[in-house]
Amino acid sequence: MSKKVRVRFAPSPTGPLHIGGVRTALFNYIFARKHGGDFILRIEDTDQNRYVEGAEEYIVEALDWCGMPFDEGPGKEGRFGPYRQSERKHLYRQYADELVKKGKAYYAFDTSEKLDFHRKDHEARGKTFIYNWHNRLKLDNSLSLKPEETEKRIADGEDFVIRFLTPADEKLYLKDIVRGDMEIDTNTLDDKVLYKSDGMPTYHLANIVDDHLMEISHVIRGEEWLPSLALHWQLYDAFGWEAPQFAHLPLIMKPVGKGKLSKRDGEKGGFPVFPISWNESQGYREAGYFPEAVTNFLAMLGWNPGTEQEVFRMEELIQTFSLERVNKSGARFDPEKTKWYNQQYMQGKNDGELAELFSLALIEKKLLDKTWNTDYVTKVIALIKERAIFVSDFWELGSYFFVSPDNYNEKAAKKQWKGDTSEIMQQLLTVLESISDFSSEKIETIVKSWITDQGLSFGKVMPPLRLVLVGGMKGPHIFDIMGLIGQMESMERIKTAIAKLG
Ligand code: GLU
Repeated sequence: MSKKVRVRFAPSPTGPLHIGGVRTALFNYIFARKHGGDFILRIEDTDQNRYVEGAEEYIVEALDWCGMPFDEGPGKEGRFGPYRQSERKHLYRQYADELVKKGKAYYAFDTSEKLDFHRKDHEARGKTFIYNWHNRLKLDNSLSLKPEETEKRIADGEDFVIRFLTPADEKLYLKDIVRGDMEIDTNTLDDKVLYKSDGMPTYHLANIVDDHLMEISHVIRGEEWLPSLALHWQLYDAFGWEAPQFAHLPLIMKPVGKGKLSKRDGEKGGFPVFPISWNESQGYREAGYFPEAVTNFLAMLGWNPGTEQEVFRMEELIQTFSLERVNKSGARFDPEKTKWYNQQYMQGKNDGELAELFSLALIEKKLLDKTWNTDYVTKVIALIKERAIFVSDFWELGSYFFVSPDNYNEKAAKKQWKGDTSEIMQQLLTVLESISDFSSEKIETIVKSWITDQGLSFGKVMPPLRLVLVGGMKGPHIFDIMGLIGQMESMERIKTAIAKLG
């Protein structure tokens, strides 16, 4: 790789980023980091009709949340700015004109009514209208008109577009890092519009000019752009520019059935398809996912390390990733697997950090009216996090560490609270009261020897004890719970249970 690696993520601000877009950004980011290159954000907003307010801010925020900061882009001006195509619009016309001068493009005056007519007429005859070699000399353009006529019509202010002149009867040999070599017959291509009558370039022209001017070395983008590759390839050639290398990433497919993952699939399956929320659509961030989990599961959609390893932190992804290991075929999206990833990252997190997140959530949800000290919450987390997927699961898994149970699981109570249980619990209270160092280990030793000494069975003591402390039969080691909620609280709960169940 001789040229400096410079890659770009080039979204159009037409709405929120779909996670497919985030994956494209991710592969660009990883590739740039791996090769000590630059990761550029370019906003492709030449189509003003499709512009959506707030979409650019959304994209920037999403990249930021995912931990993929760009090196150059809007607000981070580098040598190659501006990075919004709408701010570069003065640049493009000269390039379109250059191609006309070289005989590689031409002016076309066909009105949209005329083109519509041709389309319908073809349709009626079971054909498809393609503006290219086979009919362009019969249409209204600078190829069929005399040069003076073309000049006059332009001078008179008539609307025109600039079209690429696709040569007839040629073979193109395209290269793509993911797809391999492809052969295309130019006769199947149409003469795409490069420059529109509204004075704006089309995606194709702006994209190629900017990739060239921004010295992009690798174009890594979604497979939906593969059909444009033949034109882009020819444009580089027509300008006499060195083309970047291309890598088209496989589609992200529905969890079941055929086709591309859509917003509707998310709504139906109850999982997010956006990194962060957009209007009513919940994002991964708001659903409680860690950004590391999201980037990890996205990396595995279409790329494989060639080993069994599935958990890759960003640093590891950067080390391991290569475009050569990106698959050709679509990657099926598995919402259950995304949860598994979150759980993996949850286990790897520091308890203190989780405690802070949990405390914030508790206060926000008004589940607690007092702030628990972080040390206490941290200890709780250590006991329950094994079973948690999201921070929001902590309440469900461990509310009894903060509030005493307000009722008891009915079935469990019926089963565990027998005729003599109140009496046994009463005796247990005396035992607990006598313990001076109320630590998990001490309580365990003392309670267990009391059970043995009394000739009681564990089954008579431990399950009802769990019931009164927790409200049900779930939870971690019972003595850990007691050690944490403390002597007073443990005894209080036993007394309440005797009163309620006895
Ligand atoms: N603006 C295009 C998009 O919205 C960019 C495609 C490309 O990367 O060339 O995805």
